[in-house]
Amino acid sequence: MNHIQMLDLKLEYDYMKDNIDIAINKCLEHQKWILGPEVKEFEEKIASYIGVKHCIGTASGTDALVLSLRALAIKTKGKEYFDREDLIITTPFTFTATGDAILRAGATPLFVDINLKTYNVDTNKIKEALKEYKGKVIGIIPVHLYGNPCNMDEIVSIAKENNIFIVEDCAQSFGATWGNKQTGSFDDTGCFSFFPSKNLGAFGDAGTVVTDDDERAEIVRMLIKHGGKDKYNVEYIGYNSRLDTLQAAILLAKLGYLDEFNEKRRKIAKIYNENLKNIDWIELPEEQDNGYHVYHQYTVRLKEAKGERDALQKHLHEKGIQTMVYYPLPLHRMKVFNRKCVVYGSLKNSELSASSVLSLPVEPLMGNEKAQRIADSIGLFKF
Ligand SMILES: *Cc1c(COP(=O)(O)O)cnc(C)c1O
Repeated sequence: MNHIQMLDLKLEYDYMKDNIDIAINKCLEHQKWILGPEVKEFEEKIASYIGVKHCIGTASGTDALVLSLRALAIKTKGKEYFDREDLIITTPFTFTATGDAILRAGATPLFVDINLKTYNVDTNKIKEALKEYKGKVIGIIPVHLYGNPCNMDEIVSIAKENNIFIVEDCAQSFGATWGNKQTGSFDDTGCFSFFPSKNLGAFGDAGTVVTDDDERAEIVRMLIKHGGKDKYNVEYIGYNSRLDTLQAAILLAKLGYLDEFNEKRRKIAKIYNENLKNIDWIELPEEQDNGYHVYHQYTVRLKEAKGERDALQKHLHEKGIQTMVYYPLPLHRMKVFNRKCVVYGSLKNSELSASSVLSLPVEPLMGNEKAQRIADSIGLFKF
């Protein structure tokens, strides 16, 4: 019985091999490794795909978040970093980097619980937290977790009412839309990751910042190059965080397959939905009327689970099926956030999700039979 992985990047490479090899070979010939022509071309294509004015490639998605926040501090406070009293609302049920970026920009994360249907931050809780911490909150980082877009109409209107910024964490949502807009194109700034396993993945680390704001784009562009327009005479505390030419070339080649692959992910999700819908102990991912979910992960939740999630994972492992837990520990439980975060109310949905979610393989090229086999194997699991 052959093994089913979460993703099969070799299979994807073979599918796109001709285009990727041509792109890499072009770089080998021109040898312009730092901010070469492919970086500019990639930035233009991404800006147009997302529907924004500016796109600035970065060395990772984490850097995209940190640099966006630093640019906001520079622009709105006239200071290099935010102050520890400045609170930024986000979800504790996300990858470490979302919260870590807030700390690195000098501010403090204010963790607000999630909605148990979408796993995204609960907009009602955002409103409550804003009342409780009136005047202290400077921004929101919504995370479009698993590729399921947050309700951006509500988040944009909350941000406008309270005069706070939005930095979207789109690391998992490349190609997802809310209404007729791409994630990342809502007010202020969008941050993407091209970590190899993301929906658009490089052959190493890479990321990008997108924005409509000229001034912010200019500052981010300085920050990726040591903090100045001229790297021999800099203005800000900067980074060496450029998108590699080689990664840009690979990403350009892969961008041509993105919409097709997101559709393939959705087809696999559909097979799972149809074959798991009669299992009463499992909660399936929910799509929203206004949202185009790109299934970076297809994540189920075991209802009323007390440790059975790990047993299900073991059961599937024994059948040769790899699964993953995103994420086993909410951010407020991590040591790095000890006394460095503020928690609004109970985070029980985040805690519950951490102990009961399981992500199934969504390799766009894996084929229907494998999805079927996984669903059948789940059906055989006994509590
Ligand atoms: C992957 C990811 C990041 C970080 O991106 P890197 O490119 O790995 O630095 C940030 N936030 C979320 C939600 C992610 O999934």
